[in-house]
Formats: sequence, C-alpha cells, structure tokens
Amino acid sequence: MYPSGRPRGLVQLTLNKGWVSEIFVSLQGEGLYIGAKQVFVRLSGCSFGCAYCDTKRAWKRVKKADISGKKEINPVSVAAVISAVKEFGPVHSVSVTGGEPLEQPEFTLELLKGLKKAGYKTYLETNAAHPAELKLVLKYADIVSADIKLPSATGRKAVWKKHREFLRLSGKKAFVKIVVTGSTAEKELLFALLMLKKVSPGITACIQPDQALGIKGALEKFGMALSKGILKDLRVTPQVHKIAGIK
Ligand code: SF4
Repeated sequence: MYPSGRPRGLVQLTLNKGWVSEIFVSLQGEGLYIGAKQVFVRLSGCSFGCAYCDTKRAWKRVKKADISGKKEINPVSVAAVISAVKEFGPVHSVSVTGGEPLEQPEFTLELLKGLKKAGYKTYLETNAAHPAELKLVLKYADIVSADIKLPSATGRKAVWKKHREFLRLSGKKAFVKIVVTGSTAEKELLFALLMLKKVSPGITACIQPDQALGIKGALEKFGMALSKGILKDLRVTPQVHKIAGIK
C-alpha cells in the first residue's frame, strides 16, 4: 500500500492518527437504528460533494477536532479517540461517520479494530463508493450504513458500479439509506431499488426524504416506485434528530 522505502515512523503515524471533525454522544436519527444511543466519531474529509449534505463543515480536513467541547490538534490518535469515547459510558454502538471514513481507510481500520477490542459494537456510516477500502475494514464493522447516491439528488455523477461492488462485499452487515429530495427523479429511485433487488434482495432500504420534501411529499412524489413491492423491507424514514432539534 505504501511506496517501498517509506520511513517506518511515518507509516505508524498514518495508521494510528487521523483527521477528526468532532466526537459527541446523541441518538441515531436516521435509518434502521433510529433512537439508539451512540457515540459519533465524525471524521473530516469527504470529496463526494452531495448537494443536500448537512455536514459540509466536514468536507475539508480541519486543523482542530472538537472532542466533547475540547479542541484537539489534528491528526488525533486512535488511543485519544477511544479514551474520549469511553467517557460517554455505555452506548448501543459507536458510529464512525463523516465526512467519509473510507477516505481515511488505514485510520478507520485501526479505529474500528480498537473500538472492537474495547468491547464496543461498531457502526460504519459511508457513502458506499469505496469498495476496495471497505474490504480492508469490513471485518471490524458490525453494522454498515450504506448510502445509495441518486445523481438527481446529489448533483454528482452516478457511482452505480461502486455501489454494486460495495453491497456484494458488505452482505448482511449492511442496510441502505437513499436520500430523496424535491429534485429526485422517480426513475432513478426505481433504478436503485431494482439494482438492490438484484444485488442484495434481502436488504433493508430506508428512503429518507430531506426536510423540505418530508415524508408526505415523498409518498406523493414516489407513489409508483414505493408501491411496486420491489424490496420486501422498504421503509420511509425521517431524520428524527432534526425533528427533535438535537445534534
Ligand atoms: S457523501 Fe456524505 S459527507 Fe460526503 S458530501 Fe455526501 S452526504 Fe456529505
């Protein structure tokens, strides 16, 4: 993975330290585990650029991480992250989120490994566009929350091939979230559901309308796609943390 001759010390630094945006405790507000108490380890850096992204502050690597209200200079060590996580006491699981955790695959691997060793259930939240990196970390991720990106909602190009490969690898560990907005084309949502049926027929998929569209708006706009019965476990779920006014 590294060019030969790279100094040993530098390799260690890359593996055990990473760019963190913030660490906090809250309730999971999206998808299959809505309401579960989690510690969120938000890594910084994401190059996808979804139009609807609500964590744009985490697109760039930041100089300082906000760890329970205290500022830490980045990159932060795995040991420091785990010690911060422990301060929150028992939780359902630890969400390694972003930004995009798989844009720092070596750090995410060491982090998930360390969390498992410390007895935590791990929850990896990802844009499902990095199958090779998923292969590296999958053994240490208990739950994979995989976003399926619809180009008419993200404003970015399609990554269907990567999504297919990602879902084949993640198997039963994954559930899927599909964000839909007022710009989403119903034919793209249909395409995504048919792709899921082919690649992972037993998967749970959560259609997640953005706040402007809402659940009612999504049911009206995508009635045809939702009523076709393409997947057995297809849900329409809100962003509960936004409704509750919590982080
Ligand atoms: S992949 Fe996630 S973090 Fe990255 S831009 Fe899209 S919504 Fe934001």
